Order: sequence, then structure tokens, then C-alpha cells
Amino acid sequence: MPPSITPIRIGIVGVGKIVRDQHLPALAKDPSYRLVAAASRHEKVDGIPNYPSIKAMLEDVAEIEAVSLCMPPQFRFDAARAALEAGKHVFLEKPPGATVSEVEHLKELAAERGVSLFASWHSRYAPAVEFARTFLTSTTIRSVAINWKEDVRRWHPNQEWIWQPGGFGVFDPGINALSIATHILPKMFITAATLDFPENRHAPIAAQIAFRTLDGIPVTADFDWRQTGPQSWDILADTEAGSMLLSGGGAKLAIDGQIVHDEPEAEYPMLYQRFAEILRTGTLDVDVAPLQHVADAFMLGKRNVVEAFYD
Ligand code: NAP
Repeated sequence: MPPSITPIRIGIVGVGKIVRDQHLPALAKDPSYRLVAAASRHEKVDGIPNYPSIKAMLEDVAEIEAVSLCMPPQFRFDAARAALEAGKHVFLEKPPGATVSEVEHLKELAAERGVSLFASWHSRYAPAVEFARTFLTSTTIRSVAINWKEDVRRWHPNQEWIWQPGGFGVFDPGINALSIATHILPKMFITAATLDFPENRHAPIAAQIAFRTLDGIPVTADFDWRQTGPQSWDILADTEAGSMLLSGGGAKLAIDGQIVHDEPEAEYPMLYQRFAEILRTGTLDVDVAPLQHVADAFMLGKRNVVEAFYD
């Protein structure tokens, strides 16, 4: 970064797992930012002023230019509105909201106020995703199978919000697959879906979805939170140029079993670079396509009741 550019003064809201695992380390290493405050009801970030709410933080720290909103999606809309109305740039964790219409409203509000809004999709920045996209655009795709299967007890222990309405259940990781699929595949539409709801929960533990592209390419997605043992975050495409496997959540690419791309991930540093870029150029980056597919799956999907789930 040239020395003449002053760092973006940023506040972070909703301090929890993803803030500690990814946002704080990414911000600490990026000279484009200076973390100046945090707002969270219970948690605190060392070394900076902490506030119990975004309202208190924005009132007290006038120098804040941008905020990252990292609380669960059901509780993000009011915070995003407050920040945009105060003229701050906003970074939304994924998924950008609990409904499509609230995200559309945030987009309008950001444009109206002349500030930047970033609906971040971290999986799109996984190291092999662009290579998969280039490969797929250079060939004819015959079919695609997405397998996103993980152990909810391992990755989301005691996260109550994730099982509540607006928490998305298995679509919380599944939307990461959809964020990659909507970036690397032609436009597609859901034709059928089945959602498995544990009898004691308000969000699905598994989902099977069928899509079709405009050219009739079949795409299936199998999301399951009951996977013990090896975990799978894979997108498999059968193409005229061979069988493509994008695995590890977008980290690794293989064609006909030969690994062609495998690099360490840097998703969050890249998300913050992108946020700085849209902020400096005064633009928005809000793609609701992955969220729209989740909404469509809930709209079109058949609902199955399965055995109760306990953490
Ligand atoms: P989390 O740790 O369960 O929650 C983050 C923080 O949000 C909590 O510590 C809590 O802080 C605050 N919060 C919880 N309920 C709230 C409520 N009702 N109102 C206001 N604030 C509330 O969740 P997380 O795993 O960090 O995930 C947060 C978001 O990041 C989700 O959208 C998730 O999809 C996304 N994400 C998570 C991961 C991951 O690996 N965990 C990866 C990528 C993206 P206070 O109690 O202090 O307010």
C-alpha cells in the first residue's frame, strides 16, 4: 500500500468464532485497515474500545468509516441499516441476511447514502475456484454433482441460532457450495428439493436439491450434516475435457484424478482486499444468487421430518 493512503478505520460487530478465527488475524496483517473498536453483547476484543451495541459504538467512535457485521444472519439487518444510515461502509459476513428482500433493501440504502456494501462469500476466494471456473468455461459440461457433507457436532457445537428460523441449518455450509457453484457454473434454477428437518428443530439437517441450467445441464446438490469420518466439500463436473473435482471447499482442483491446483487458502485476507477495493472505488459488491437459491429450496422443497437431533 502506498504510504499516502491512510488505513480504513474499521469497527467489528458480533465477536464470536469467525471473528476470532479469521477477521482479527486478517485485519491485523492488512495495512489497509486499522481496527478501532468492537461491539458485542458479551465478547470483547483486546486492545481496543469495546461497546455492548453497534449503536453505542457508532455514537462514541465518530472516526469509524466501515464496519464488519459478523453476528448470525437473523440479527444483522438492523445493525446494517444503522451503519448505512450513519454513512458507514458495510462488510456483511455470509449469508448476507436472513431474507432476500432485506438484502435488496440494504443495497438500495447503500446506493442512496453513497457508501459501499459488500456481501462477502468467502468460499469464492478459495484458491482453486478461479481455476475451476476457467476450466469449465473452456469445455462442455455434461453434469455436475455437489457433495457438501460435514459433522455438525464438530463444526457448529451448541450454536443454537443455526437451528432457528433464519439460521439456515445445513444451508449455512451449503450456501458456501452455492456461492462457488453460482460463480463457476452457467445460470441455473432449482427444479426439485427435499429438506430433512429433525422433529425437534426448525432448520434442516440435510437437503437434496436438483437444478437445471438454461442449456439443460443437470446439477445436483447433496447437503448433509450427519457426516462423521472424512468430511466432503466437493464439486464434481463431468465434462468433455475430463472429470473435474474441486475439493476441500474450493482449495484443490483435479482433472481426471491429476491434481492441477493445490495452494494454501487466504480467503479472509482476500475478502478484506476486495472490501478495500470497492470502498476506494465507491462501488457495491452484492450478489444475492446463493441466497436466492436457498430461498427457492425452502419455497419449492418437500419437507421430510427425520429423527430428533441433540448436540
Ligand atoms: P457465533 O460465534 O455463534 O456468533 C457470533 C457472535 O454473534 C456471538 O459471539 C455473539 O456475540 C453474536 N450474537 C449471537 N447471537 C446474537 C443475537 N441474537 N443478536 C446479536 N448478536 C448475536 O457464530 P460464528 O460461527 O462466528 O458465525 C457468525 C456468522 O459468520 C454466520 O453468519 C456464519 O455463517 C458466518 N461464518 C462462520 C464461519 C465459521 O467457521 N464459524 C465461517 C464463515 C462464516 P455476543 O453474544 O457478544 O453479542
